[in-house]
Amino acid sequence: MSNNNFDLRDNPYYNLFLKQQSKQLEVGIIPYKERLKQLNRLKTAIEVTYRERIIEALQKDLHKPKVESELTEIYQIIGEIKHAKSNLRNWMRKQSVTTPLSMLGSSSYYIYEPKGVCLIISPWNFPFNLTFGPLVSAIAAGNSVIIKPSEMTKNSSKLMSEIVANIFSEDEVALVEGEVETSTQLLQLPFNHIFFTGSPNVGKIVMSAAAKHLASVTLELGGKSPTLIDSSANIDKAAKKIIWGKFINAGQVCVSPDYVLIEESLKANFIESCKKWLNHYYGENPENSDSFARIVSTKHFERLKDHLENAEKLDAKIEVGGALEAETKYVSPTIVSNLNQASSLLHEEIFGPILPIVTYKTLEDAIKYINSKERPLALYIYSNNQVKTKQIIKNTRAGGTCINNNVIHYANHNLPFGGINNSGIGKSHGVYGFEAFSNRRAIVKQHTFGITELLFPPYSNLKEKLAKLTIKWF
Ligand code: NAD
Repeated sequence: MSNNNFDLRDNPYYNLFLKQQSKQLEVGIIPYKERLKQLNRLKTAIEVTYRERIIEALQKDLHKPKVESELTEIYQIIGEIKHAKSNLRNWMRKQSVTTPLSMLGSSSYYIYEPKGVCLIISPWNFPFNLTFGPLVSAIAAGNSVIIKPSEMTKNSSKLMSEIVANIFSEDEVALVEGEVETSTQLLQLPFNHIFFTGSPNVGKIVMSAAAKHLASVTLELGGKSPTLIDSSANIDKAAKKIIWGKFINAGQVCVSPDYVLIEESLKANFIESCKKWLNHYYGENPENSDSFARIVSTKHFERLKDHLENAEKLDAKIEVGGALEAETKYVSPTIVSNLNQASSLLHEEIFGPILPIVTYKTLEDAIKYINSKERPLALYIYSNNQVKTKQIIKNTRAGGTCINNNVIHYANHNLPFGGINNSGIGKSHGVYGFEAFSNRRAIVKQHTFGITELLFPPYSNLKEKLAKLTIKWF
């Protein structure tokens, strides 16, 4: 036991960690068919056994509409499991690579081995999807896992704890409920990999803690994802998708379009279309709609209220909505324009149902505006001009992009999902998730005499010449 670990004896989760660590080599070598069984157990639990209770828990925690729970939680997890099941045999295969002539006599390949004991810390906005999604990748890759879900969605966390305890043994997968203090204690343990989904600020805390043990990290973070509408776009079609993408889960989505950038001359037309689609989706009074979620906590409700007060103080115009109801944590779908650049809405990730509209004069100005901020998790482009679309993509950086749509890139398991710098480090989903939880172990096998042996000491003029020839020709 190192000094470091000696200090951990008082950590309430150290024994659980040790239990998983001591069994990890066994868990790590379980064959393909056993890994499939683990995935199937999770699939049956989500799809059948606990499905109705999951929907109920989400309704209690977030007033999440049933269809949204089905599509953005259950379907996403089941999709991730099905994708992993169809591809796992292939992912687990050893991957041969070519070997340079200078290494004649040997062959090379790499294998994916599990990272080991991993920690998954998840947020509250899609509590099941963002906990079980990474878990699918982690167990597909043969890891042992401790999960810490969010304390904000208590009904969901409690149910996830029950699901995990019923389908896994504690030395394979365990779930620990708790507040920030619990996260802090878990982060003291020498995990091999930490998969964190949450805010950039907490991401920095996680990365610092990981550095102490040189644990690798995947950070799935957030930020302000811009939506750029160019003059060639179909405004009504853009509004239809933006209103859906912005107000799903009441805007509490990491890839939600945070703000819209549009040419001044198109603004009025766009706002009219937005009003039409808002009415279509949520009716005259969204408060009575079964299709619109609520804000997760009073703290977040107050945060959104402060944003609106700040914007109004700085002479912003509320184009639609602006209604707040503290008791039910209801914030109506809101569109704000005429924002002063000092408005907090233009600086902090909104993570709620408020859509600021920012106007620009030239496309170059819009690109400059995007590049003046942190690199976003998503950048959405609405344009029917291929040259301009390419220009926007080439001149900006983002974790992912949709052209003439938003949010849906998240749902394609064949695409890597994740941010860049402030919006995240590393990728998840499908094979990218499997890779995040795996170590690519490089293996060289010597078959016959290797010509590199000709260059072993003692060195001579001839060997120097041979070294030069090797550099030149091989
Ligand atoms: P958060 O960072 O506040 O919390 C996430 C998790 O970290 C929770 O389990 C929480 O208990 C824990 N935590 C909070 N403070 C901590 C601390 N000081 N030390 C250690 N652990 C701590 O995030 P949130 O409010 O739950 O979620 C919203 C954020 O997550 C937004 O920024 C959003 O964009 C981002 N997000 C990103 C993705 C993605 O896939 N990239 C998905 C969903 C949410």
